[in-house]
Amino acid sequence: MSRVASGVGMTSQRTRNRMIERLREQGIRNERVLSAIAGVPRHLFVEEALASRAYEDTALPLGFSQTISQPYIVAKMIELLLNGRELGKTLEIGAGCGYQSAVLAHLTKDVYAVERIEPLLAKAKLNLRAIQQFNVRLKYADGQLGLPEAAPFDTIILAAAASSIPQALLQQLALGGKMLLPLGTGEQKLLLIERQAEGFIETRLEGVRFVPLLSGLE
Ligand code: SAH
Repeated sequence: MSRVASGVGMTSQRTRNRMIERLREQGIRNERVLSAIAGVPRHLFVEEALASRAYEDTALPLGFSQTISQPYIVAKMIELLLNGRELGKTLEIGAGCGYQSAVLAHLTKDVYAVERIEPLLAKAKLNLRAIQQFNVRLKYADGQLGLPEAAPFDTIILAAAASSIPQALLQQLALGGKMLLPLGTGEQKLLLIERQAEGFIETRLEGVRFVPLLSGLE
């Protein structure tokens, strides 16, 4: 039996609507972000045993010591990046199971996502195929180096916390582009970086908790 036809599938529309209401209460205002999130069946991205918890506002384990991001933080980060502009060509570092990639793919046609753990990348590929999301290009690579062959990017979003700003990513940000990353080792804060003709403008935002950005491939 397909998972969509199971009990989880039948209640998911209601629980999904509740998740959207909760995101509104938490302050997410951008309707495009809310409808992109509403359009992605999060339960298909988590382990079957956890599917009933897929619409709670929590990070859930993905395996390989990684987690699927909390819906609020996915919404908040994309809202910060959208803010009066289009996302344009977007690079996501840390695709994990592909959940956030799918949300991004609802908002812009060009999404590139890199992941350093090969079995997770394989999972992301299967998940995105299952929901027929074909506009995400997934690459097995160390995202600290960006994706030079597809640069420059209008938007770069990191799903893992960097201890310092990866220089390659700054170089691959287009003029007028925006990058958002969790920064820090113990305490982490979101950092928004905008590339303008006169240089990079940095804005420190709220505290967050992400898995660390690591080097090399696994
Ligand atoms: N975007 C994912 C979140 C996955 S958690 C989602 O929607 O669920 C963060 C991911 O970043 C992990 O899968 C981890 O393996 C990956 N990661 C960490 N360092 C990385 C690096 N240098 N390059 C690419 N991916 C990295």
